[in-house]
Amino acid sequence: MPYDFDLFVIGAGSGGVRAARFAAGFGAKVAVAESRYLGGTCVNVGCVPKKLLVYGAHFADEFEQAQGFGWSVPTPSFDWPTLIANKNREIQRLNGIYRKLLQDSGVQIFESHARLTGPHELEVDGQRVTAERILIATGGWPMIPEIPGREHAISSNEAFFLEALPKRVIVVGGGYIAVEFAGIFQGLGAQTQLLYRGDLFLRGFDGSVRKHLAEELTKRGLDLQFNSDIARIDKLADGSLKATLKDGRELQADCILYATGRRPMLDNLGLDNTAVKLTDKGFIEVDGLFQTSEPSILALGDVIGRVQLTPVALAEGMAVARRLFKPEQYRPVDYRHIPTAVFSQPNIGTVGLTEEQASEQGHSLKIFESRFRPMKLTLTDCQEKTLMKLVVDADDDRVLGCHIVGPDAGEIIQGIAVAIKAGATKQVFDDTIGVHPTSAEELVTLRTPVQR
Ligand code: FAD
Ligand code: NDP
Repeated sequence: MPYDFDLFVIGAGSGGVRAARFAAGFGAKVAVAESRYLGGTCVNVGCVPKKLLVYGAHFADEFEQAQGFGWSVPTPSFDWPTLIANKNREIQRLNGIYRKLLQDSGVQIFESHARLTGPHELEVDGQRVTAERILIATGGWPMIPEIPGREHAISSNEAFFLEALPKRVIVVGGGYIAVEFAGIFQGLGAQTQLLYRGDLFLRGFDGSVRKHLAEELTKRGLDLQFNSDIARIDKLADGSLKATLKDGRELQADCILYATGRRPMLDNLGLDNTAVKLTDKGFIEVDGLFQTSEPSILALGDVIGRVQLTPVALAEGMAVARRLFKPEQYRPVDYRHIPTAVFSQPNIGTVGLTEEQASEQGHSLKIFESRFRPMKLTLTDCQEKTLMKLVVDADDDRVLGCHIVGPDAGEIIQGIAVAIKAGATKQVFDDTIGVHPTSAEELVTLRTPVQR
């Protein structure tokens, strides 16, 4: 064989591991390089530790609500170092599982940074290796805007390893990470403010969802400050931080977390030694088959900047492995109807078109919406409301989108995504018998469209 490997994967994150394992399983000679942590962002500083912290934060509600069901709960106390140590132990276990998965599939692991030195060549672990094809799956990295004092701010990477729970936290941003971390800090007892530069956070989500979540978070005592942005950060003598906003207001906090998006991880990757091109936003440009402009080099996952979600990176990894080494099983990635959840408190679960997108695309619409107090809360003082919404095409009755804000919305939306992907009409939803008593049954009992 003229090359050391059939496929060399740079980055052992969600997409890279999936592609490497399956390519090796299909009989290819495969290596993967990982400079930081096996499992990548999702396992180490993303989905998994985030969800563990969200579970941790949720207990505050459970203790309070238990009293309505007759439990007397001594004043609960929370210990951040215990949660972080237990989380770290679980992540270490998962790192080991990833190592074993790769080894058992016959993938050679280089625990080292990899740098491209040509279209078929890399430098890794002090060696020069060659490969017929190279897959760039290097993911992304948090981006903090260039403001004076930005060195005093942290990103989600550091938030997972704080030594103590800060008493006062400012979270900057209005996307997934900002909303999720604001919920984590507030749920665990920190006084939390969320600053977003626009009128309403979660741009791109359905308008009803954005408004509903803003109301529910405010009810919980989260201080939402829209149309607010930090101009500079100063460290005060007592170690706390002062944020001066663009409108001149001053806020104080013990921790300022920036969640203002992620850039592609291309640091010292050696792209200059290849013909790989970038998009205007700086991500790696690929075609429908994940081929870059260099014929031997492919890319997928967060580094191509399409949809930055783990299941999407997994699907892309699978598609690449199959196309290269098991073409008879190849299926292109279908980017329509990708369900997603924001693990805020309460959760958002969403799939398909928002009302705004559907109407922009020219559909005439019937909108079904319901807001109700979930049964579990009826014996408690909690006034939280759940939102369920269906966006339906008035002409052919197809359900174009489903949007939920409420407990377990992330769990509920997965099944609805299957129905919508299968092309279910509103009539199919109506003909489906509910599961009683649940919140989810509301989705098959919505009868009267709302008037717009
Ligand atoms: P990554 O998982 O980022 O893996 C890239 C790997 O490449 C890294 O391990 C990196 O160290 C390595 N690497 C980079 N450069 C080199 C090099 N030159 N040499 C060797 N190795 C290199 N998605 C969801 O679906 N659900 C969630 O709940 C969710 N929560 C998230 C929470 C947070 C805080 C964050 C930050 C992300 C979250 N995501 C979530 C997004 C998800 O983590 C990413 O979409 C996913 O990890 C992308 O996978 P990837 O394979 O493209 O890259
Ligand atoms: P997002 O792109 O989702 O959100 C970035 C936010 O920061 C937006 O509100 C944006 O505002 C704001 N912003 C951007 N630049 C600035 C700036 N210079 N100053 C002030 N605000 C700014 O990024 P995240 O970092 O939250 O997450 C990255 C991606 O990771 C997500 O898009 C998602 O794909 C994935 N993820 C998925 C999760 C899940 O599935 N549950 C959880 C966490 C992450 P504006 O809208 O005005 O541009």
